[in-house]
Amino acid sequence: MKALVKSRAEQGIWMEQVPFPVCGHNDALIRITKTAICGTDIHIFNWDQWAQQTIPVPMVVGHEFVGEVIEIGGEVQGLKPGDRVSAEGHITCGYCRNCRAGKRHLCRNTVGVGVNRPGCFAEYLCVPAVNVFRIPDNISDDMASVLDPLGNAAHTALSFDLVGEDVLITGAGPIGMMAAAICRHVGARHVVITDVNDYRLELAGRMGATRTVNVTKESLESVMDDIGMVEGFDVGLEMSGNPSAFGDMLEKMNHGGKVALLGILPPDTAIDWNTVVFKGLFVKGIYGREMFETWYKMTSMLQSGLDIAPAITHHFAIDDYQEAFEVMRSGQSGKVILDWTR
Ligand code: NAD
Ligand code: ZN
Repeated sequence: MKALVKSRAEQGIWMEQVPFPVCGHNDALIRITKTAICGTDIHIFNWDQWAQQTIPVPMVVGHEFVGEVIEIGGEVQGLKPGDRVSAEGHITCGYCRNCRAGKRHLCRNTVGVGVNRPGCFAEYLCVPAVNVFRIPDNISDDMASVLDPLGNAAHTALSFDLVGEDVLITGAGPIGMMAAAICRHVGARHVVITDVNDYRLELAGRMGATRTVNVTKESLESVMDDIGMVEGFDVGLEMSGNPSAFGDMLEKMNHGGKVALLGILPPDTAIDWNTVVFKGLFVKGIYGREMFETWYKMTSMLQSGLDIAPAITHHFAIDDYQEAFEVMRSGQSGKVILDWTR
């Protein structure tokens, strides 16, 4: 079958023929219809330090998709051929303490689809059936193909009560802009989002941010003055992975504020711990999505009017994958979808 493979330890990704996956007793075999490109795939394409340390080559990459179940293993229940599905890309062990306690997002033995085992940028994908999530009929293929990053946004944003709260989101990448939409959907008051990229800030504004801030042109302080914010933000969602954005966030939080960290900061990022201590801040790290509570919450929100359509900016046929990766690498995009059926 056809697949996008990281087959060489250098920049790029290549369409190649790879063996058809074998479906085990507890697995589902899925025919891929649409996939979306994640920031992780761009790290792998660029072959940066993280990718070099993490990705064994050759590796079929990709983990954001929608498709159709075509075969199930003998032990599988609750799924059938023909079901339209996506899947949780974190495959967990099932036997560690957290897995056994139903906190699978905290599994210490997680394996990543398209990172440590073959991914979804392929005609077919085989994953454990417990990871598969059936897509309700009234959720489109486009939306279904971006449930993974929407789930990152939902897991982060829904970590805290947002009703009537003032939220600061640092980073208006695809995940930050989707988080802005969620915050408004569930009843936050001010949703201020920062970035250094005007294209993305414009999208975030269309998706529900009440104020967009390009930090290279305008200071957060002046924006806070402008909107009459005296005490600081109640909730902070760090979604840039940029140390100065995180430092700024800690400084602008109200005392007792709650901060969730999704962005992957460089390991040597320094922060002013006294700010955390004297303000009594609560800081929470976020990894992936809660299995499967986040999946149910986000599909329910989509069904109750959450609109993330503006976040999907580009569609390409799979044979034009090079162009799709270039658009994603340029920063002048939201989510980029690859269609495997045309
Ligand atoms: P992205 O790289 O597309 O978006 C990050 C955005 O931050 C970009 O638009 C960039 O312009 C902006 N930015 C850069 N410097 C900034 C600054 N000083 N202030 C404000 N914004 C700034 O990433 P994404 O796909 O939207 O993901 C968001 C973050 O979450 C990334 O760091 C990603 O690695 C991380 N991530 C973490 C998990 C997890 O499980 N913890 C999962 C997915 C993604
Ligand atoms: Zn586990």
